[in-house]
Amino acid sequence: MSAPRLSADRERCIGAGMCAMTAPDVFDQDPDDGLVLLLHTEPPAAHRAAARMAVGVCPSGAIAFHEPEPGGS
Ligand code: SF4
Repeated sequence: MSAPRLSADRERCIGAGMCAMTAPDVFDQDPDDGLVLLLHTEPPAAHRAAARMAVGVCPSGAIAFHEPEPGGS
């Protein structure tokens, strides 16, 4: 079974830090430029709710959650 995958687009990220504040186990901020760092592309189940919330609060739409197709390959 495939797990949901996260992606982060550092070209779109504006370094607002909402993701790292909302889901610190999944996202961090680059200490140099403040842009998003993805700690888990396939976050463990315990962190998925926070990761989804972070996607919702990101002001630039730089992060996305890709849910596997139900029953898909
Ligand atoms: S919340 Fe969005 S804009 Fe802010 S650091 Fe995270 S990915 Fe970048």
